[in-house]
Amino acid sequence: MQITIRCDRCKKLVKGCKTEGFTGGYYIRAAWNKFMRPGEHKVCDSCMWKTPAYIKVYGKVSS
Ligand SMILES: [Zn+2]
Repeated sequence: MQITIRCDRCKKLVKGCKTEGFTGGYYIRAAWNKFMRPGEHKVCDSCMWKTPAYIKVYGKVSS
């Protein structure tokens, strides 16, 4: 299912997709809590990929 979300960090609208147990194009707090700042619920790929804690675990992602 295609959806559009607003990133809580950069406030941009991001096109993503959602299937059962999986999101594409953005990250949700339910699954990615430890990489999010207080008050954030959805974060787009490019913001998440710049998060120092994320890079520590998964390395640098180039889009
Ligand atoms: Zn963002």
